[in-house]
Amino acid sequence: MNHSVSFSCRQEPRFFEECKILPLGVFLFFLLVGQFCLAQKSIDDLESASCYDHHVHLLSPSLISDWKSTGMPFSRPDDFYSSVQRLMNEEKLAGAFIVSMAHLYTTEAFQGLQKDVRDEQEFVARENDFVASCVAEYPERLVGFFSINPLRPYSIDEMERCLPNEHLTGLKLHLPACGVDVQVEEHRRKLHAVLRWAAEHGVPVLLHYSAGEAIDDKAADFFWRELILPHENLELYLAHLGTAGGYHGAARSLIDGYERLRNENQEFSSRAIFFDLSGAIIPEGFPEGRPTSDARCQELSLKIQEIGVARFLFASDYPVFSVADSKSRLLHRLSLNEAEKTNLFDNRSPLFSKRPRGMAREPNK
Ligand SMILES: [Zn+2]
Repeated sequence: MNHSVSFSCRQEPRFFEECKILPLGVFLFFLLVGQFCLAQKSIDDLESASCYDHHVHLLSPSLISDWKSTGMPFSRPDDFYSSVQRLMNEEKLAGAFIVSMAHLYTTEAFQGLQKDVRDEQEFVARENDFVASCVAEYPERLVGFFSINPLRPYSIDEMERCLPNEHLTGLKLHLPACGVDVQVEEHRRKLHAVLRWAAEHGVPVLLHYSAGEAIDDKAADFFWRELILPHENLELYLAHLGTAGGYHGAARSLIDGYERLRNENQEFSSRAIFFDLSGAIIPEGFPEGRPTSDARCQELSLKIQEIGVARFLFASDYPVFSVADSKSRLLHRLSLNEAEKTNLFDNRSPLFSKRPRGMAREPNK
């Protein structure tokens, strides 16, 4: 990579910061117009077409070997988890969010691998840099998300370090894995500091919020009103519909809570907030979580229609699920008509339309 252009920083992600209503308005307008102009595709056409996946993990060879050393079994060859070339050659992707798993180094299982918190910080940085190196291979199709643990003393330093990297556009936060308990005041303060930083710097956040616990309307209102509402410029992608996967009461409460706030707050309704559908339909035989019933799929379909297809984004959580299987489940089990399914799979984050930072001065890439 041409080093002289890599400092070009975050000019384009400030798009929303400076003009937060217009871009989403334009984005939604085109989606709406698209409903009438786009040729509606058959399920077969959609199944064989390439798509935009808003939740894909790649792990560095170092992380794979470190994770294996903690006793974690891996069922596939290493390059299934780490090779961006394999991913792009074998999965049908027009584009993808490549999401770092760096926060794993801050979890209990990895504590034996590092001497101290400085060591941990280095491992986290190395993993985030690996994601940047993957994105650099396909800068026009991939969007990189670095990850940190909001409770760590170096979290803001690591975010500042990633900020100028043109291949690390967004921030992934996995709250349950990081031990964040939003009922604890200190944890909430640290989470707010990270979200404030992201909003101020125009860094979109992919948020894994809960571990599958029950979330009622009150808890959902707390999430939207106490944690998200204060961060006016935050571009938010809610992973797995806000839960650990499967469409059930907790996901429904969170989506309903979003709708309640949207209906009463015009500023909030114009925000760039999206729901990532990865793991929304759990298949039979999956070891974690109950399979999602047809009745739940039907409920989810109605909810998607109620909120608007434009807010929902295709995502697989690869390598947990393959891109093809995730797509096939949504296509065959959601009760949406062909036009709605066409729109769903045409949806893509506005981040894909932005030229990666530095590209303007790097025409040969
Ligand atoms: Zn994930």
